[in-house]
Amino acid sequence: MSNKYGLPRDIPSDVKRAVRQRCGFGCVICAGAIVDYEHFSPEFANATRHDPEGITLLCPICHAKKTRNMLSQRRVHEANQYPSARKVQYAFSDVEASEGRPFIKLAGMTLRNCNTPLQVRGYPLFQVESPEELNGPYRLTASFFNRQSQPSLFIRQNEWKVFADSWDVEVKGPSVTVRERPGEIALKILFVPGEGLVVERLDMYCAGFHLIGNGEELRVNSPDGGGATFTRCLADNCNVGLSLG
Ligand SMILES: [Zn+2]
Repeated sequence: MSNKYGLPRDIPSDVKRAVRQRCGFGCVICAGAIVDYEHFSPEFANATRHDPEGITLLCPICHAKKTRNMLSQRRVHEANQYPSARKVQYAFSDVEASEGRPFIKLAGMTLRNCNTPLQVRGYPLFQVESPEELNGPYRLTASFFNRQSQPSLFIRQNEWKVFADSWDVEVKGPSVTVRERPGEIALKILFVPGEGLVVERLDMYCAGFHLIGNGEELRVNSPDGGGATFTRCLADNCNVGLSLG
């Protein structure tokens, strides 16, 4: 579908990335991480090209408010200039709570029914807290870092956040990809709503440990030069699933 100038709806991926980077990967109004690309200056109907400066990020709620004229042009322009995710330094969304303990598939290692699925030097990197009340949700907390040991994605009690100073964060369907630089994926995570999450790609340093996850294989290199590879491994019903150091 094209507009009257023959401009197609589809925005080229390099333009989308430039918009994401400028906006800090979140809705410019509320910092929500689930976003639509919105031509605002000019509106899509009057656009002759996909200019990243004329496109902004809006979450589905803020987008709907704009379409219904419940959000002014002025406010969108202002927010585009001072994006919310840039102000708070992150964009966020939530993880659907699980009825049971959420599983984490860390490439070749599946961690199920664990209180602390992963710990590094005694520090819990992934944690599952039991419901505080009857029929309440299990709460998942997890920290992922990149090759520079900088945070790539944090989950805190079922709310996830990605950081505005990342090189690129792309949310597509139920998956989130964090890139450190062109062609370098720090993390690709797939949320399985109400059940857990799958880490499809991982390249992270934490406390000297290098964790490399690729599909069905998890490689862990230790600071002392040792290492281990996990493929189709399962840690089920343990207090601590995988303990490093
Ligand atoms: Zn929003």
